[in-house]
Amino acid sequence: MDFIEDNVKGIFEELPEAVILVAAAKGRKTGELLEAVDAGVKIIGENYLQEAEEHFKIIGNRVEWHFIGHLQLNKVKKAVKIFDMIQTVDSVKLAKEINKRCGEIEKIMDVLIEINSAKEPQKFGILPEDAEGFVREICIFENIRIQGLMTMGPDLADPEDLRPYFKMTKDLFEKIKSLDLSNVEMRYLSMGMTASYRIGISEGANMVRIGVKIFGGRENG
Ligand SMILES: *Cc1c(COP(=O)(O)O)cnc(C)c1O
Repeated sequence: MDFIEDNVKGIFEELPEAVILVAAAKGRKTGELLEAVDAGVKIIGENYLQEAEEHFKIIGNRVEWHFIGHLQLNKVKKAVKIFDMIQTVDSVKLAKEINKRCGEIEKIMDVLIEINSAKEPQKFGILPEDAEGFVREICIFENIRIQGLMTMGPDLADPEDLRPYFKMTKDLFEKIKSLDLSNVEMRYLSMGMTASYRIGISEGANMVRIGVKIFGGRENG
């Protein structure tokens, strides 16, 4: 009983005040999300547009919606209507499309740049060495506002081994911040999930994306 509520409260007690919780909601039911919202969750992270649309019908703007999956170009037009932040901008084409679709509805979208911190060929994200050039290239778009970086890091058995990737992403965050580019505000560093959020926070994350520790185990990934 009240398993989700207890989990959310436990996490809020533990998180430092400056750290923002995003409830990662893939595969969950709207009722589960509502329990989390009632327990104080303010931001829901969604990997899939269609799931988000279902939940949004019920929950609407009681929370902020962050897109945390891989966003396909043909989904952008619908996505920009629901989402308050897109954490996974990983190509100029995507940034351009978000800019265009937001322009049509007179919205300015907050975005994070996804960094492929372990340079894994099968993963999405901008390579660390390309990040500065990428930010310079997309910061000219008027309907997006760069707010920071996000990284997943590699899937490692021991989350302690994520430290170097998180550290490198934090360094990159500070580097880009120091450039003081117009239209770029480095406010959020989104690193860490259920198994790794403590490591993320100790390496400088101020936003964590937590699913399993709120909602319980997932049956199918
Ligand atoms: C699923 C997911 C999370 C949360 O992972 P958990 O292990 O459930 O905490 C965080 N970020 C992204 C991008 C995800 O897809």
